[in-house]
This record gives sequence, structure tokens and C-alpha cells, in this order.
Amino acid sequence: MIEIFYSDHYIFPLPEGHRFPAEKYSLIRQGLISNNILLTEQLKPANKISKKDLYLAHDPQYVDGFIKGTLEPKKLKKIGITWSPQYVERVLASVGGCFQACSSSLKVGFSGLLAGGTHHAGFDEGEGFCAFNDFAICCLKLLQSNIVKNILIIDLDVHQGNGNASLLKNNPSVTIFCLHSRKNYPFRKVQTPYSISLEENTNDEDYLDCLSKGLNSLKDKSFDLILYQAGVDVLKEDSLGNLSLTMNGVMERDRIVFSFSKDKNIPLALVLGGGYSKPISSTVKAHINTYIVAKEVFKF
Ligand SMILES: [Zn+2]
Repeated sequence: MIEIFYSDHYIFPLPEGHRFPAEKYSLIRQGLISNNILLTEQLKPANKISKKDLYLAHDPQYVDGFIKGTLEPKKLKKIGITWSPQYVERVLASVGGCFQACSSSLKVGFSGLLAGGTHHAGFDEGEGFCAFNDFAICCLKLLQSNIVKNILIIDLDVHQGNGNASLLKNNPSVTIFCLHSRKNYPFRKVQTPYSISLEENTNDEDYLDCLSKGLNSLKDKSFDLILYQAGVDVLKEDSLGNLSLTMNGVMERDRIVFSFSKDKNIPLALVLGGGYSKPISSTVKAHINTYIVAKEVFKF
């Protein structure tokens, strides 16, 4: 059975008007159920990741400092979300849920986490709403246990996954394919072989062409697992993005990625990534659409 994990049952306080779209997570979960895309029993609460697993990708001092709330104020501020014990619980559950989605996808071919995609977090600091790097932790944990040998990360969030790149670029078992906007945060990109910067206002046609060609260049490599960061901040109406994809363009993007996984018989674990439309309804709709396309391709 398909299992999709969520972490929004850990609620954390945010100041009024904060840019982090905390409301989107539960709206997506409700939308997936009310539109009959997922059954209630297919949704599972995420378990918190252990400290030991966080140490696989991060500086133990940083991990301990974040969990206890004793990090220097500059580092806490850089993460972009006000620290609280409840926020720590949410972060741990989000990373844990990502690992559960990876494990589940290896059994049945597809799984997802209704959160995650914290691709900006680096070795000893977080940034851009990312405290710990979920993909890096999961890759290192899976590789360490010899569950998989080669992993492909497909990161299609509008912002470059600078944390993924800095933590994993020298790991021969991980390939990162990343398509992002050139003139957007993070302004210092970390180069990897399959990292492509797109110009502002890139439209559906050019984006999908670039995606297809990029994936085609990877078709002869062998992978045991795909981790897909399906950020919908590529939408034209996103408040933190600057590409010009339409709702249909994003669905076609997801169809291309899911078909690549399905055709090559490589399990895929999906995380949400960014999405900051105002109002948040377009973002929620686009994330739900990703699951509509997943259901169509993976037939669950
Ligand atoms: Zn983003």
C-alpha cells in the first residue's frame, strides 16, 4: 500500500505575517483527502529522526545547539524561523518522515512526505527555512546501511539546493540534478555537474525542454532511488520565485519526472519543497496537483 507521511501535527508558533507558509501543510493534507486523491489510512504521522542520524550530515555541535536552543543568535536568525521547542519537534519529524518516505518507496515504488525539501541547510548552519538537510541525511543513512548504492536527487525548486550540493557533491554515490533560477536566492550557487541555472521568466516550453534534455542525459546511469524535491515556487504567481511556469506546466514537469522513475523502474520519494503564493491557494493547488499526477503515473 502507498504510504504518505506528514509532520504538520507538530504545530509551532510563528509571528504574525511571517513569510514561512505554515498553513499550507495541513491544507494540502486536507485537500488530498477531500479530493479523494489519498485515503485517510494511506496517511501516516512522521516519526522524529534521531540525533545520531543528524550527525551523519551535520556538525554535532550545531545539531546539539539547535535542539537545545543554545546556538548563537546569528545562526538561529539565519535559519529564518523563530526557535521554539515545538519548532525543533517539527523539524525532527520532517526529517524522520523523509526517511520513512525513502524506506516506503523502496518497498512499493513511490512514497512521499507532505513537508521537507530542506535543501539549503549546510554542515554547521541552517538557512532559508531549513534547519537540517533532509536529503543529505537520508542519502547518507541509506548508503551507510547499504540499502542502496546509487541515488539520484532531482531538485526542481526555484531556489538552488546549495546545501545538498555542499554536503553531497563529493559523494560518488549521489548525483544531483538541479534546475533553478539564476537570479534568485541563494545568490552564491554551489556548482555540481548537473546544476542548471535558468533565466528569469523562463516559460513552460523552455523549462520542460531543459528538464527533458537533462533527464535524458542521465538515462543510461543506474540508480536505486530517486529523491524528488518538487517545489512549486517555479509558478509564475509565486512571491519568492521569478520563473513563469503555469499550473499545467508544473503538472507536466511532474509527469516527466514521475515517468522517468516509472519507465526506469527506480523507486521515487517525493517531498514538497517551496511554494509561497499569496494567497497560498495557488501553492496548495499546485502541490495537490503533484499528487494527482503521481497517482496517474504510479497508479495507486
Ligand atoms: Zn524554494
